[in-house]
Amino acid sequence: MRTIKLLATIQKIDLELDADRRKFTENKQAMAPPETLKKLAAEVKEAESKVTYWQKERRAREAAITEQSKKIQDEEKALYSGRVGDPREQLARQQHVESLKRHLETLEERALEAMIALEQSQETWEQLKQTFEAQKSAWLRRRTELEKEQEAIVAHARALKMRRESVLKQLDPKEIDRYEQMRKRLGGLAVVKLSHRSCGGCGASLPTSVVQQVRSGELVKCPICGRLLYD
Ligand SMILES: [Zn+2]
Repeated sequence: MRTIKLLATIQKIDLELDADRRKFTENKQAMAPPETLKKLAAEVKEAESKVTYWQKERRAREAAITEQSKKIQDEEKALYSGRVGDPREQLARQQHVESLKRHLETLEERALEAMIALEQSQETWEQLKQTFEAQKSAWLRRRTELEKEQEAIVAHARALKMRRESVLKQLDPKEIDRYEQMRKRLGGLAVVKLSHRSCGGCGASLPTSVVQQVRSGELVKCPICGRLLYD
């Protein structure tokens, strides 16, 4: 086979390998847990700590009610036991019980607030957990798909490399070197197909003499971009 045809074959294989590499990198990035999922996980954690906070708070506020009720009970017991004879002292004690009862109401309100806050925080936590789980399983499904895709890409690239090796064996090492250098310099594209009478790389119209040389299978470069041309 003519050198140019072999180089054109190598070029086609290399372009496919480039595409495989790009896709592989792209998939690898897509396989990482998405930022939204990480953010959601943090939100779930925060919601959970709010629930814990309100659970403790509710217990503490309810304990305060129990304590206050006990205090009132004890005070009332003393008040109605008849042991306090002095009317002035009795009035003062009655007023004290009244103030204790008013404070009990405040404590009850606070306990109710804690109960409502706890319910709300639990609801928020549940919702966030559901959203997180749904997004997580969607990501895991996608990751499984991508893993399969990666395996296919690796197998495809392996086959391409084997074909490349067998073509390389038919080429002069000097030609291979020249091709590699050109590919580096020309953005991965060193050998291009003639497109009618133009260069398939840069689009320049080619002189008839060049077109004829290309058609006869000679090693000819585009005078504009310097790429090797084949027909
Ligand atoms: Zn060109």
